[in-house]
Amino acid sequence: MNKNSFSPALRFNSVCSRRNALCLGAAIAISAMLPLNLFAAGAKHTVVVWSEGTANVDPSSKNVYPDDINTAIAEGLKPLEADGWEIVKASLNDPDQGISDELLKRTDVLIWWGHKKHGQVKDELVDKIEKRVKEDGMGFIGTHSAHFSKALKRLLGTRCSWREYVADGTSAEIIVKEPDHPICKGVKNFKLPKIERYGEPFAVPQPESVPLEGIYTKPDGTTENARMGLCWTVGKGRVFYFTPGHETYNDYYKPEVRQIFVNAVKWAAPQSKS
Ligand code: ZN
Repeated sequence: MNKNSFSPALRFNSVCSRRNALCLGAAIAISAMLPLNLFAAGAKHTVVVWSEGTANVDPSSKNVYPDDINTAIAEGLKPLEADGWEIVKASLNDPDQGISDELLKRTDVLIWWGHKKHGQVKDELVDKIEKRVKEDGMGFIGTHSAHFSKALKRLLGTRCSWREYVADGTSAEIIVKEPDHPICKGVKNFKLPKIERYGEPFAVPQPESVPLEGIYTKPDGTTENARMGLCWTVGKGRVFYFTPGHETYNDYYKPEVRQIFVNAVKWAAPQSKS
């Protein structure tokens, strides 16, 4: 993009700080000439990244996620801002458990990471999330230990359990199984040097697509396959589950994982608004 296309507004800001009254009318005139997505206030979509506030406290993970996992995921979503997305962080520790009625009403996609505090999430909030997905088409993305979150279990209607959970030095290669799927755009196969192995079968309904697969390599050299990215439509909404993301590994800082989340948010957005 031509650098000059931005410069009038940037220069204008510095002048505005000194002459506020005169600036208002001109600012409106300039904003009318610029694309809407340059302004956060004009965000077309909202993605909320929720986590339970334990990864930044637990001694085993606080060095990896000092500002909790919602911060790491939200940072990775920054490229969405250029497309008019507002990125909101939310935590179980916030008022209304991070999701007020007002926020939920304008949320297009809700990303959820939880592990130890699933039981503390109020059923009333889960009811509201279910309604937003099924009736209004809000997207929902659960990742890693959020497989046992009340919201994902409610949306999928099954136990959502894996056969086993083992962090024994297993590594994984994440395989782009459906290269043409929107969630795989710009993503190539990549390796995670350590992963908590979630063993199949995964007790979920038949997904409509599995854009990402994985091959675990165990410490003894044997391998095992598992699904790493699964898609469903639930009522009017789209649901995506991403298997990696254990709190002691830096998965959410990895460029490939961040690209997957950017793609998944776009894919999960309500179809009527995208
Ligand atoms: Zn884990």
